Amino acid sequence: DKIKNGLKKTKDSMIRRVETVIHSFTKIDEDFFEELEETLILCDIGVQTSVKICDELRSRIKKTGATDPAVIKDMLKEIISEMMSGSDEMHISTKPSVILMIGVNGVGKTTTIGKLAANYKAQGKKVILGAADTFRAAAADQLGIWAERAGVDMIRHAEGADPAAVVYDTIKAGQARGADLIICDTAGRLHNKKNLMDELAKISRVIDREAGDCDREILLVIDATTGQNGVNQAREFKETAGITGIVLTKLDGTAKGGIVIAIKDELGLPVKFVGVGEKIDDLQPFVAQDFVNALFD
Ligand code: GDP
Repeated sequence: DKIKNGLKKTKDSMIRRVETVIHSFTKIDEDFFEELEETLILCDIGVQTSVKICDELRSRIKKTGATDPAVIKDMLKEIISEMMSGSDEMHISTKPSVILMIGVNGVGKTTTIGKLAANYKAQGKKVILGAADTFRAAAADQLGIWAERAGVDMIRHAEGADPAAVVYDTIKAGQARGADLIICDTAGRLHNKKNLMDELAKISRVIDREAGDCDREILLVIDATTGQNGVNQAREFKETAGITGIVLTKLDGTAKGGIVIAIKDELGLPVKFVGVGEKIDDLQPFVAQDFVNALFD
């Protein structure tokens, strides 16, 4: 299936590396744990999370008295499973929702919005898009192509217009047309970071004020191929923009899928969708147990 294929590179690299460590030791000792910890860090699981996993392994090994490194793989799966549990309990609500998509340029924001629009349209939902990246006219043009492809309406203003006004108009139009899903794109870059964060805060206030009974989501799109850089983006946006979830794109093109574990464990943010290709049906709801199984089985 798609998750399995999308995670193939990550699985090949991560499991091969872990197995290499397991096979190069005859017993579990401190050298073994040090080597394993280094390996997990190389697998983009993040320093903090890798240390935590190894501490947990040490304590389980102590409890069971096991000495054969062969037991480690199953224990690792168990620990990662436990860490990831509860990270997928909510996808997009069945209630009408306003979704704000944020993330730096090139991560796959427009593509993700297009895929979401097409998927929900196919499920019989009414979707409307708002082109609130008014910084570049090309951004609205590109989103327009996806809107047309998906067969959904899109609200846009002129280049340089107030993005919060686009979001306002999109919500109003969505409410008037009975939309189930109102999805707004945002700029990935402005003159500087403070500008961008101020603008996102202003848009958030418009949503808070106008979204009425709708559920609200602020989804940060991260490019999995950027590894720890993506985790750092999530950390920054989490503090200032109040994100409620992550969309992790381009899992298919990278061995750095381990960042899913770091995002959940270090940042406590749910990964809601993963992108596993460029096509319209290549966006998958994230299910933690499927992710763990795809890695280990
Ligand atoms: P934006 O600047 O954030 O809006 O990024 P775009 O949506 O324009 O995407 C940038 C590039 O990433 C495009 O070439 C997309 O086709 C590609 N892309 C987006 N999501 C995925 C994905 O899940 N897998 C792969 N392989 N490519 C993707």
